[in-house]
Amino acid sequence: MLVAANWKMFKTRAETGAFCDAFEPPAGVDVVVCPPFTSLDVAVASGLAVYAQNVHWAQEGAFTGEVSAPMLLDLGVVGAIVGHSERRQYFGETDETVARRIVAALGAGLRVIACVGESEEEREAGQTELVLRLQVEAIADAAGAHPGLVLAYEPIWAIGTGRTATPELAAEAHAFVKGILDVPVLYGGSVKPDNAAELLGRDAVDGALVGGASLEVDSFEAICRAAIPS
Ligand code: PEP
Repeated sequence: MLVAANWKMFKTRAETGAFCDAFEPPAGVDVVVCPPFTSLDVAVASGLAVYAQNVHWAQEGAFTGEVSAPMLLDLGVVGAIVGHSERRQYFGETDETVARRIVAALGAGLRVIACVGESEEEREAGQTELVLRLQVEAIADAAGAHPGLVLAYEPIWAIGTGRTATPELAAEAHAFVKGILDVPVLYGGSVKPDNAAELLGRDAVDGALVGGASLEVDSFEAICRAAIPS
């Protein structure tokens, strides 16, 4: 089981340090934190496993505002989220750029959590499997079942909305995704302490990518505990 905290554009360096000082990852579950770029070094210094929230495909170059895999490794960062729906929605990320980022990150030795998921309109139009197929095939064609690669199924309508996929719906989507690319699949979308055990109890659910509920130590620790295999 892997539980990842996606802090998005939250937490100053002081807030990151305070969280890491107070947070005690429970034994029996892999935990990673994904702070903003400005706090990565603070989180690394705490001894926690740290992923970035994005990574560029080039090693270096004229790409203003971007950060490369060798630069992250230089900081002690061990992985990166790639293709989060907020990157796809607000920053023009496409299946092609997601694939390029994944290949470069894995090639450099970073681990990767690659995000996929359908919008509410796509689900209502009966296009969930089509959308997932296109997104996952782009990743599978580029990277295959690389040992450093994990997918996160994050239905966009469940991210930051308080609406969670039912465990049945999540399990169905995870099984579909694994049928295309057989790697571990995390669930993401309004995971909270009170729904984590039920979601993480499903066979096809290999962990969680947690946004809002990862910002507070108590709620994130509770979710991590729910991931410990019984
Ligand atoms: C996310 O940002 O990946 C996420 C799942 O957010 P939240 O848990 O807040 O829905």
